[in-house]
Amino acid sequence: MNKSNNGLKKEKKTIEIMIKKYCQHFHNTEIKLCDNCSVLLKYANNRLDNCYYLKKFGTKPICYKCPIHCYKPDMRKKIRKIMRYMGPRMMFSHPIMGLNHLFHRFQKINKIPKKIAT
Ligand SMILES: [Zn+2]
Repeated sequence: MNKSNNGLKKEKKTIEIMIKKYCQHFHNTEIKLCDNCSVLLKYANNRLDNCYYLKKFGTKPICYKCPIHCYKPDMRKKIRKIMRYMGPRMMFSHPIMGLNHLFHRFQKINKIPKKIAT
């Protein structure tokens, strides 16, 4: 497994934990996600699998900071809300994942066309 795949796996895991915790807290779920959140998680994973940066450069900025915005507007709205809420809490409860995000945040972003939405 190469480095970028490893990062992708971590980001998927991070998103999954974020959505799970958010769903448990706001939608009163326990182990299973509610329908809305499981659709969102599937969508997020799918977006990661099709990430333009990963395909082109083998590395990617975190989705939250990415200039491409490959999410559909409604999905983007949902994931942003979750990230804004969970971000600071993840730093606390999962310091390693938090640091990983910080690290990615400072990675250089190459100039590319603004929008490659699907
Ligand atoms: Zn939910």
